[in-house]
Amino acid sequence: MTTAEEKQIVSYLLDLGCCLNCSIRYLCDKQLEFSELDDFLSQKLIINEVEIKEEDQIKRVKNNACIVCLGLLQDHMLQEILNCPDLQKTQNYDNPMFSVSISMPASILLREHSMRLHVVEKFPAFFTDDKLEIPINRVWKMFVKNPLAKTLNKTFQSSDIGDFFINITTDYIDDIEELKALQVMQPKDFQIRTTQHRKYHGELFTRKGVLQILSKSSEKLFRMHSACPPTIPNNFLTCKAIECKHNSIFIAGRYCKYSRELSQSPWVVDGVKLMDTSVQEIMFDVISIMLSTPVDNLKFSSSGREDCDVRCLGKGRPFYIEILDPKKTQFSFEEFRRIENKVNKSELIKIRDLQMVARSDTNYIKQGEESKTKNYVALCVTKQKVTQEMLDKINDYGEVEIQQKTPIRVLHRRPLAVRPRMILSMKATLTENEHCFELEVVTQAGTYVKEFVHGDFGRTRPNINEIIGCDVDIAALDVISINLDWPAEIDYNRCIQL
Ligand SMILES: [Zn+2]
Repeated sequence: MTTAEEKQIVSYLLDLGCCLNCSIRYLCDKQLEFSELDDFLSQKLIINEVEIKEEDQIKRVKNNACIVCLGLLQDHMLQEILNCPDLQKTQNYDNPMFSVSISMPASILLREHSMRLHVVEKFPAFFTDDKLEIPINRVWKMFVKNPLAKTLNKTFQSSDIGDFFINITTDYIDDIEELKALQVMQPKDFQIRTTQHRKYHGELFTRKGVLQILSKSSEKLFRMHSACPPTIPNNFLTCKAIECKHNSIFIAGRYCKYSRELSQSPWVVDGVKLMDTSVQEIMFDVISIMLSTPVDNLKFSSSGREDCDVRCLGKGRPFYIEILDPKKTQFSFEEFRRIENKVNKSELIKIRDLQMVARSDTNYIKQGEESKTKNYVALCVTKQKVTQEMLDKINDYGEVEIQQKTPIRVLHRRPLAVRPRMILSMKATLTENEHCFELEVVTQAGTYVKEFVHGDFGRTRPNINEIIGCDVDIAALDVISINLDWPAEIDYNRCIQL
């Protein structure tokens, strides 16, 4: 219910040149929850509109821009936003929800400050220190959310839970002129932060700067240099630009690599690309086309990496791709399968288990970095003929902690350190070639397997070379399993018809 005093205040503010929304936001304290705000406003609005019509028709037909919000909470501005061609950009995004924010000119802060001083003076019993008006941007959101939702055919969502943001920037032609008052009010010993926005006589006013000056100026000083209550503006705010931004989405999966001449990411040295393509590029080429996203908006991460000449087999290596500012965010099961099929045509790699994951889920890859284990198969070449005795030495060795000094081949990009790593199991078997044996090895993540085999000039100890007492090198290496249970495996039986 609106009290007699509230009616009097609204009526007074309308007389001064406030818009109806501003008049009403002065009735309430800002403690109200956002969800309660809607009800509060609509209730007050209905009551007041009816009553005000009865009381004084003339007040309702005023056409000036509001003396506090400069038109932000008036139909005029709302229509301008709804008619802005930039609003079409929102239709490129498939998210059915939207959140909205507004960038306001700093002179509104000045006007709000002025109005606050005035209402406290005029209605001291009502405007006590604990009763502050509802912030303008909250009322603005309530004011625009339904008309915007209808125009966009999307559902409004509060920004703290939303992913898709529409930011509206406003312009106010008299902004700089009105902010001149601040120049005089600025305390001598006070340096305004001069980072961005609002150039005035070489001085830059940020919103923060304006608020700082206002909080440091006495009421007397303010009233000397600024109108109180604020005067009726000559111009309305205008809608300068509408920008859209979507939070990143994350697509995860596993990849296998069948080539021994393929790096994981583009291999560039001194600006020269050394290989035609890479695991990452094969995926990005497909995804950027199928998602209509520039390649620059894609970021690749994986659970470790293999060398160019190492294949990655089995179920493959977990990876995820961050898509920045995505337009497409809704995927069906079949769409993911289509992306997989297209990537898999390359024959160099194969991807599987492609799916959307939450940002928080991508931590699994980092957490698994140390704890996960990996299975390898290495084809080892020996100087002498392989004997059963050599193989027995390996097979009987069991679990062992090795000390690995940073390998010579990676010293140029990794710091020199000695890292302990676990070899969890080993199994050596004969091959048809009497100078070769196959070594299956299960290691802690981060173990350099090639160095464990040949010893890296004694930088990795113990190593296979010293275990069997014979010079040994590695001819080929395959990762056959990365034991990280992420992302979830896809049930491909669901898509036999594809
Ligand atoms: Zn207003």
